[in-house]
Amino acid sequence: MFSNKEKFKEFFLQRLEMTCGKSFGESTKRDHYFTIGNMIREYVSTGWINTNERYRMAKEKQVYYLSIEFLLGRLLHHNLLNLGLEDVVREGLKDLGIDLNELEEIEADAGLGNGGLGRLAACFMDSLASLNFPGHGCGIRYKHGLFEQKIVDGYQVELPEQWLRHGHVWEVRRADLAIEVPFWGSVENREENGQLVFRHVGTETITAVPYDMPIVGFKTETVNTLRLWNAEASPYPIHKDILKYKRDTESVSEFLYPDDTHDEGKILRLKQQYFLVSASVRSIIRSYKKQYDTLQHFHEHVCIHINDTHPVLAIPELMRVLIDEEGMGWDEAWHITVNTISYTNHTTLSEALEKWPVRIFQPLLPRIYMIIHEINERYCQQLWDLYPGEWDHIESMAIIAHNEVRMAHLALVGSFSVNGVAALHTEILKKREMKSFYQIFPEKFNNKTNGITHRRWLLKANPLLSKLISEGIGDEWIQRPEKLLELNKFTEDTSYLEQLYQIKQQNKERLAKRILEQNGIVVDASSIFDIHVKRLHAYKRQLLNILHVMYLYNQLKEDSSFHMHPRTFIFGAKASPGYYYAKKIIKLINTVAEKVNKDDRTNEKLKVIFLENYRVSLAEEIFPGADISEQISTASKEASGTGNMKFMMNGALTVGTLDGANVEMMERVGEDNLFIFGLTADQVLNYNQHGGYNSRDYYHHDKRIRQAMDQLINGFFPDSDAEFEPIFDSLLSENDQYFVLRDFDSYVNIQKEAGATYENRKQWQKMSLKNIAASGYFSSDRTIREYAEDIWRIKAE
Ligand SMILES: *Cc1c(COP(=O)(O)O)cnc(C)c1O
Repeated sequence: MFSNKEKFKEFFLQRLEMTCGKSFGESTKRDHYFTIGNMIREYVSTGWINTNERYRMAKEKQVYYLSIEFLLGRLLHHNLLNLGLEDVVREGLKDLGIDLNELEEIEADAGLGNGGLGRLAACFMDSLASLNFPGHGCGIRYKHGLFEQKIVDGYQVELPEQWLRHGHVWEVRRADLAIEVPFWGSVENREENGQLVFRHVGTETITAVPYDMPIVGFKTETVNTLRLWNAEASPYPIHKDILKYKRDTESVSEFLYPDDTHDEGKILRLKQQYFLVSASVRSIIRSYKKQYDTLQHFHEHVCIHINDTHPVLAIPELMRVLIDEEGMGWDEAWHITVNTISYTNHTTLSEALEKWPVRIFQPLLPRIYMIIHEINERYCQQLWDLYPGEWDHIESMAIIAHNEVRMAHLALVGSFSVNGVAALHTEILKKREMKSFYQIFPEKFNNKTNGITHRRWLLKANPLLSKLISEGIGDEWIQRPEKLLELNKFTEDTSYLEQLYQIKQQNKERLAKRILEQNGIVVDASSIFDIHVKRLHAYKRQLLNILHVMYLYNQLKEDSSFHMHPRTFIFGAKASPGYYYAKKIIKLINTVAEKVNKDDRTNEKLKVIFLENYRVSLAEEIFPGADISEQISTASKEASGTGNMKFMMNGALTVGTLDGANVEMMERVGEDNLFIFGLTADQVLNYNQHGGYNSRDYYHHDKRIRQAMDQLINGFFPDSDAEFEPIFDSLLSENDQYFVLRDFDSYVNIQKEAGATYENRKQWQKMSLKNIAASGYFSSDRTIREYAEDIWRIKAE
C-alpha cells in the first residue's frame, strides 16, 4: 500500500472510509491521522510477526528492559522515517491537500515518564531495533502521563494529561495474555515430599493486561515489542464492594508518579512496581517455557535489565516463580536469578534512593518480603564471614535494616552487573557512594555512558542540518553516527560554515515563531539563544542562570558602556507538584521575565522566555534552535544528562560544569570547544565531607551577588513581598547547598567569554561544527552496542 504515491492515495481514501465511516469531504485532520496510523501499524505487522518467529526459531538470547518510565513522545513521523515511507506519504497526502506536518501535530505525546530516565528507555528501544538486537521493553500503560503544565500568573499549574483521550493507534491490546497479580493476604507453608512449600493465600488480585507496541528499527526488518501493562479489575473479584475494588485496581495504572525524588502515596507506588515486575517476569517465563523444557538454563537465554531500582522486585519475583511455581531449590534459583538480572544506577542523590518501610512492604507483598528477608539473611552471613564482628559495617550494607527495605542494596546483591551512566558517575559510585559494595563485588561494576538516538534528535528534529551533513559526508552517518567525525574536514571551509550558520538561523526563526505563539513575545533570531531546558531541580541550578540574568539586567541599567551581544534566555522545566522550592524558582524566572521583557531600555539586549509544558515534542523544536546549551549542575550531582548530548548534536555550544557526561563531551570535542566553569566534583565532595564553605562570605564580598539577592526580597519585584524569601534563605541561612554563590563569579566570566566568542561568527560556527562532528559517540547506538557486548551478551540478528 506504500509502494508508490498513487497506490498510497488509493489505499488511504479507501481506509479512511472504512475506519472513520466518513467520506473524504466530511473527514477531519484527526481522521486522517488515525487512518495513516492504522495503515502503518498494519504495514508493520508482518515484520512484527516475522521478527518474533525469527527469535523463536533462532533461540537467540533475549533482553527485556524493565522501566517504570518510557518517555516516547510522538511516533508517527518517527515510524515513517524508520520505515522509509516519509516521502511517499508526504507526497501522496500533498496531492490530497493534506499537510503531513499538521497531522503530526495531532498526535499526543506518549509522556509516560518524568525526564532523562524515561527518555533514555525510549532512545534505547529505538537503538535496539535499529541495530537488530533482540531487546524488548516492559512498562506501565499509565492512563495519565506526566501532567500538563500551564503557567498562570507566573506559577506552575498542573493539569491531568490525557494522551489516551482519542485512543492510541500504535498499541494492540492482548487480553489473551493477561496475568493476575496478587497482593495482600498471607503465606501458608506446609511440607510436601519432605520439602517446605509456600502458598500465598487470601490475596486480592489485579489483572495486568498487556498493550503491545511495535518498535520499528531504522531501515531494518526488525520489529521489537514494547509491552505496557494496564491494571484492570480481575474477572473473579471476591470483593464485597465491587465498585471500590474496581477503582482501587485501576488506580494502579492511573497516574505516572510525577515525582522522581520524593515519594508520596507509598503503597500505590509500591503496588505499581510489583505490578510491573510480576506481570513482566511471568510473561517472560511463560514464553520461555514454550521454547524450552526446563528453566535450568534460563539465564543463558534471557537477560532482565532493570532501569534504576523501581523494578528491583524482579529479583525476588524471579526467585518466587522458580521456587514456588517451578519447585526449584534456593541455591539453584539464586544462581539463575543473579545471572539474569542487570541493573543501572541513575543517581547518587540520597533522597532519591528508594527505601520502603517494612510495615508497608510486608503486608502488601508477604511472600516477596519473606524472600527478601531470606536473601538478606544469607547475604549478611557472608558479610559476617568477611567482616567478623563489624556490626556497624554489616548493618550499613544490609538489604533490610532499621525497619526498611533498601532497594539499591537488593539490586547490588541480586544482579550480575551494576552500571553507572557516565564515567564520572561510575567512578563516584565505586569510590564513594557504593564503595563498600565495590570492595566485595568489584567484577559487577562497569560504566555505560548514556546516549540519545540521533535518528530522533538529529535526523527527525533537524532535517535542514541532516541534509547539510549528508551533502558533506554522505548519508552513512545515519546508520554509523561515529562517521559524523568526517565533518571535521569542513572546519576551514567558509562556505560550509556559512551554510551551517544559515540553518541555525532558520531553526531559530522556527523557534521564535513558537515563542510568539505560546508567549506572545517577539524575540530576535540574531540574539544568542541561550537555552536551559530540563526538569526543575535545585541541583540543576536554574537559579544560578536566573541570578546571572538579574546581574546582566542590573549592568545594563546601571552602566551605559556595558557591552553584551543581545541574548534571549529560554527556559523550559516542569517541577514536581510537591516540590515547593522548585516551584518558587519557576515563579522567579517568570517574574524576572515579566520585568525584563517590558523594560524598553534593556529589552533590545535581554529577553527571558519560559516555555510552558516542556516535553519531547517541544524539545524537538528547541534543540535545533539553540546557540548555547546550559548544563550547569552542581558538579557530582548530575549522573549523566542526555539533554547536553541533544544540544551538542544540533550544534549548540555547552556552557557547563565538569559533571556527568559533560566531562566526556569535553574529552571528545576538546576543551577549546565548550565553556567549562565552576567547582569540580572532587571539590564539591570535599566541601561536603570537610566543610569550609560559607555562602555568607560570597554574599558580603561580591556586590553583584548581593544586589541580585537583595532584589529577591526588597520590593524590586512589585507585589512579591515574601515570595522569594525561601530562595534567599536557602542561599544564605541554609548555606547554599548547591554552591550557587560559590560558582557565580566563574559563571559570569565564562558567559562573558561565550558572548564574545559568538561575535566572531566564523569561530563560533567552527566550534559548532566540531561539536556536531564529535557528537556521534553520544548516539545511543554506541551505548546499546556496549550493553549488548559487555552486559547482556546478545548478538545482532
Ligand atoms: C532529554 C530530555 C530530558 C533529560 O534532560 P536532561 O538535561 O538530561 O536532564 C528531559 N525531558 C525531556 C522531554 C527530554 O527530551
